[in-house]
Amino acid sequence: MKILLVEDEAEIGDLIKTGLEKEEFSVDYCKDGDSGMEHAMSNSYDAIVLDVMLPGKSGLEILKMVRAGQNNVPIIIITARGETEDRIEGLDLGADDYLPKPFFVEELIARLRAIWRRSSETGMSVLNVGTLSANLMSREVVRSGRQIEMTPKEFSLLAFLMRAPGRVLTRTQILEQVWGYHFDPGTNLVDVYIRRLRSKIDFEGEIPLIETLRGVGYRMQDPDNSEEG
Ligand code: CA
Repeated sequence: MKILLVEDEAEIGDLIKTGLEKEEFSVDYCKDGDSGMEHAMSNSYDAIVLDVMLPGKSGLEILKMVRAGQNNVPIIIITARGETEDRIEGLDLGADDYLPKPFFVEELIARLRAIWRRSSETGMSVLNVGTLSANLMSREVVRSGRQIEMTPKEFSLLAFLMRAPGRVLTRTQILEQVWGYHFDPGTNLVDVYIRRLRSKIDFEGEIPLIETLRGVGYRMQDPDNSEEG
């Protein structure tokens, strides 16, 4: 497993690099944003561990460029205390997870393994629900032949729902799986994103696919296994 680590604080960076190498990962270690960007764009990695505040390009700029190139490499951003907005922006830009400093390298490795497990479970597959399909690698969404544009976060939410057609997913589960929040941020984040998804996928002439269970959560319809059908 080859990992790109971008972190300007030598003490933290050395610690992470040593910890990862002890677990047999091979690590490319960049100490500024520009070389981080160069490595991220020109090499292939199994994961990228990205600090946000960097000299040169910021971690978020690197993240944006990588995703703009349709590169779905798992990315974990690491943020200093208090950089909540960076965390949210990072997840919105398509980071898979984040870790606030300070953290133990063991925690980072556990998060990496969880991301790899999730992506290997889904493999190269295309998710299909009724007339809707979502390609997990290319992140292409199509309904009845019509291509639908999605932001990375909208795509993650849609994919999470589409993996479990017919099953009720609570807001808590969605926040954990899609946003990596292990707490309720006390906002209607999930509802806002569901509304956006609906406006994109349930266009005229199509059966509405996302059902609201008031006070509980949401369910992706399962038209292929409908009891009435
Ligand atoms: Ca930094």
